[in-house]
Amino acid sequence: MPHVNPYRLESLLANASDIIVILDQQGTFCYVSSSAERILGYTPGESVGKHLSTFVHEDDVPVVLQTLLGALAEPGISQPAVRYRVRHRNGEWNLLEAVTTNLLDDPSVGGVVVNCHDITAHELAESWLRYHALYDALTALPNRRALADRVQALLEAGGQPFALLLLDLDRFKLVNSSHGHSTGDRLLQMTARRLIAALPKQGVVARLGGDEFAVLVEDATLPGIVEDVTDRVHQALSAPFAIDEMEVFVSASVGVVLSSLDRSVAGYQRAEELLRDADIAMYRAKTLRQTHSVVFDSSMRDRAVTRLQLESQLWRAIERGELEPYYQPVVCLKTGRIKGFEALVRWHHPQRGVVSPAEFVPIAEESGAIGQIGEWVLEMACHHVRAWNQGTSRSDMPITIGVNLSVQQLAQLDLAKHMHSICLSAEVEPSWIGFEVTESMMLDREDTIASTLAEFRRLGFRISIDDFGTGYSSLSRLHQLPIDTLKIDRAFVAPIEADGRNVAIARTILALAESLGMDVVAEGIETPDQARELQSLGCQYGQGFWFSPPVDGATATQMLDRIFEL
Ligand code: C2E
Ligand code: MG
Ligand code: MG
Repeated sequence: MPHVNPYRLESLLANASDIIVILDQQGTFCYVSSSAERILGYTPGESVGKHLSTFVHEDDVPVVLQTLLGALAEPGISQPAVRYRVRHRNGEWNLLEAVTTNLLDDPSVGGVVVNCHDITAHELAESWLRYHALYDALTALPNRRALADRVQALLEAGGQPFALLLLDLDRFKLVNSSHGHSTGDRLLQMTARRLIAALPKQGVVARLGGDEFAVLVEDATLPGIVEDVTDRVHQALSAPFAIDEMEVFVSASVGVVLSSLDRSVAGYQRAEELLRDADIAMYRAKTLRQTHSVVFDSSMRDRAVTRLQLESQLWRAIERGELEPYYQPVVCLKTGRIKGFEALVRWHHPQRGVVSPAEFVPIAEESGAIGQIGEWVLEMACHHVRAWNQGTSRSDMPITIGVNLSVQQLAQLDLAKHMHSICLSAEVEPSWIGFEVTESMMLDREDTIASTLAEFRRLGFRISIDDFGTGYSSLSRLHQLPIDTLKIDRAFVAPIEADGRNVAIARTILALAESLGMDVVAEGIETPDQARELQSLGCQYGQGFWFSPPVDGATATQMLDRIFEL
């Protein structure tokens, strides 16, 4: 061995990133390298002669002693590295990784050598990364990934049955948009706290993102435990939240999945499968509105998986910008000029392509999403109709826009006022907007609907009866309702032929409309002959593929000044 200058060695040790310690058989420090002062704050004089338990965290002392014993039993052999906490002179804990070797038999050492590496900073960085990968920053709850990891572990362990509850706050978006995001954030934090308080030991609470939370009940063997947890969740959210001197009410829709459910079929293999089914059950709960929780069963999946998927995807379609209003021109049959457009919503589904409103509007109606969609369509329609009427020579005959309403919307309290405020903030004249309602909508809840329509009229909006002729309207009632326009359903337009046959019904409807002082739009004009026949019958307006299919906003804008030949 080459000769080493002892001073040089000491200065090397002082600057080393490791601390070298020599212990006796009992664990008392015989030597501590001077690097300890830089790393832990102690001079060698302060530690030599003291027992290691003076410095090591009490919980870690057993590990250290065990390693020491191991080393004593195996002279000359380095023991596997262990980690333990050592108190810094400033009172904080440093994390050291240490390798212990018994060199008692080596006369130049005569002790147990412990080579300690300070990994505090490294560990901090690592745990920060670990933390942020697995915890939600806003609520400090475990995040989706942490939950999925845990569910996966439970699935793989194959132990007792467990349950997963997925909950989505109802109307949270409304809180966010009406009170601001910071209120929304506070509400989410308070929700997290309430859920934790309500479930001290029954379940693990996680936040999956947005206004979605989850509760994992790791042991669902106890009868009634899932019902109990579900009740506690609803109970926890039932009292109003006091935020900024406001009282905010929220409720949650809960979907429940039991891990044991699918054992008989294929068995859940992956956490994602449980999360997916919980999602389906949760949206089912949203649909049913009265019931706030639904337990998933596989028949639900078999029965209506696409419908439920569409339903759940529909709620997100607006935020994701997948909906687009299309516009179909309504043409004046005398002049060939465009009188206005009808807004017809389209859904660009990421997998399925364009989904027709005929398919998804009924789903939206059932699930309650139609309220949001309808408002959004009106906002978009306002945006376009304002642009179309700006700086045109059309001040005499402004472009109008038809917006479809569904019966669920009509049942909404204050619908007319609400729609009015949307128009006001978009700087749109209510008279440019014609709401389209169908005949069949008049049949139920006649009184409320009549008064809502009257309110629309009072605020300056126009009302059209859509698909006229397909539902049964009593003519006397039609007379009493505040209606501006009848839209003849295409069922009566389609049979009209070049030689003027099959015009009888159309003619009757036109006569009726005239006697009631209403305008008439013929829907679904597909041929020039139909257009001409209707024109000769005195029908003022027409709409249909012959003129143009529904087109996007930009294409509609280009079409504005077009004159259609008749
Ligand atoms: P609607 O209000 O009666 O709209 C007319 C439907 O007929 C549209 O179907 C339109 O594309 C289609 N159409 C137009 N011209 C012709 C033609 O010449 N021939 C044929 N065969 N069809 C024609 P779309 O866009 O699929 O909409 C279907 C229904 O969905 C609408 O019927 C309306 O009831 C509903 N809808 C569309 N957008 C909305 C909306 O924003 N809100 C609500 N509540 N319902 C909407
Ligand atoms: Mg319509
Ligand atoms: Mg129609």
